[in-house]
Amino acid sequence: MYVAELRCPICGKSYAPDQVPYTCPACGQAGTLDVLYDVGALRQAVSREDIARSADPTMWRYRPLLPLPADAPVPPLAVGGTPLYDAPRLAADLGLAQTWIKDDGRNPTGSLKDRASALVVARAMAQGIKVVTTASTGNAAAALAGLAASVGLPAVIFVPASAPEAKIAQLLTYGAHVLLVRGNYDNAFDLAVQAAERYGWYNRNTGMNPYTAEGKKTVAYEIAEQLGWQVPDAVVLSVGDGNIISGVHKGFSDLLALGWIDRMPRLIGVQADGSAACYQVWKRGQDPATMAPIESHTVADSIAADLPRDRVRAVRAVRESNGAFVSVPDEAILEGIPVLARLSGVFAEPAAAAVYAGARAALAEGHLTSVDRVVLLVTGNGLKDIKSAMRVAGNGYSVAPDIEEVERARRVLGLPTFRPA
Ligand SMILES: *Cc1c(COP(=O)(O)O)cnc(C)c1O
Ligand SMILES: [Zn+2]
Repeated sequence: MYVAELRCPICGKSYAPDQVPYTCPACGQAGTLDVLYDVGALRQAVSREDIARSADPTMWRYRPLLPLPADAPVPPLAVGGTPLYDAPRLAADLGLAQTWIKDDGRNPTGSLKDRASALVVARAMAQGIKVVTTASTGNAAAALAGLAASVGLPAVIFVPASAPEAKIAQLLTYGAHVLLVRGNYDNAFDLAVQAAERYGWYNRNTGMNPYTAEGKKTVAYEIAEQLGWQVPDAVVLSVGDGNIISGVHKGFSDLLALGWIDRMPRLIGVQADGSAACYQVWKRGQDPATMAPIESHTVADSIAADLPRDRVRAVRAVRESNGAFVSVPDEAILEGIPVLARLSGVFAEPAAAAVYAGARAALAEGHLTSVDRVVLLVTGNGLKDIKSAMRVAGNGYSVAPDIEEVERARRVLGLPTFRPA
């Protein structure tokens, strides 16, 4: 393992890898620690060619770049290795030179969160931990529940009672111990912190556990490798707590440090108008470490956050990559679900579909231009939130079991007829 230190993004203080389990003791909750590697040793030990030779299509093909002992077992579920689709009709619709969709809804539990949970569960096993816990609006919980189930590790999940039904059903199905918190995500988060402290459970809470972003960074590795190590001009991705964007930034930063890519793509963070804490801080040039919480409301439950837990690094990711934050209304987020599905074949949950409205906003505000080659990161599967999809999917056409009614429907719907030659 090539981890050299954990470093606080606020005070710059450095800690030995096992000195602190969670955030910077000096800076508290906002000090989500960076996991930094001995880049010189890594450069000696591993090359792009070594990676290319790996027969493992999952996130573990990048194992030398991950914080896990060489002989530690990993959960059996196939996390990562998700497709990157070239989407020319989407590019034409948006007015971009090229557009790809990275479909992370294809992960075992249906979201990018599996990358973080796979690594956290692997680390928990390596350390002989008996119980893992997390608070989540849904997807991180499902990911932890699924990955823990795959190795028989008990998981205790704190989830707001208001989370989408399908997401809660998923946790219960995996056999997680589900505590439905009569309160919001922040209440659930604090309860998980207290319970972990009191009972010795290992806490995966986003923005608190330094290793979640280390798992999530593998999506950036995959994008780079899938594009032949020629990075896109920009990556558009949605932001709630800011841990995914921090992980994506970390992934490209690692590759830059190793000399495997030659520049950093601009990171465009998309927030919902009703949950735009990072956007506001960035726009006003304020310090994310000291910002006050907002009261978040959005249909895109996976990106609702009153006080984004990884806000310092999320804002840093945008500033250092010369990117931007954009903020979009809920109606535009929802309308993006069928547009994305129809132009690419990828069905995204609201938080993930927000990249479509986000790309439009970024184009309107000049953060993207028509020459750009852009990856839209789809973070979660549309089946996660069917109710939202049904609000914008349209309706079927009712017919009696009679072919003449089909003929009437065909005319109304304007469907062509033809006979194959
Ligand atoms: C968690 C999540 C996000 C946002 O990630 P953050 O790290 O909270 O910014 C976006 N989309 C989906 C589908 C998610 O599950
Ligand atoms: Zn600090």
